[in-house]
Amino acid sequence: MVSAPPDDELFDEFLSERGYETDDVEWEESYNKKQCPDCGALHETARSECSVCGWSPVASLSQ
Ligand SMILES: [Zn+2]
Repeated sequence: MVSAPPDDELFDEFLSERGYETDDVEWEESYNKKQCPDCGALHETARSECSVCGWSPVASLSQ
């Protein structure tokens, strides 16, 4: 075991990097509607892709 002193700044950076899931982008939710994270347009919850800019949450196929 390496007994390094805890580096709070590094740990915070690690958390903020890991906590923000940029790979798995989902719809924002606003007033019970879906909001496109790309252009900010509001859609019905049944909507699977943005009719304004064409964005859809299926952006990351990691295989
Ligand atoms: Zn959009």
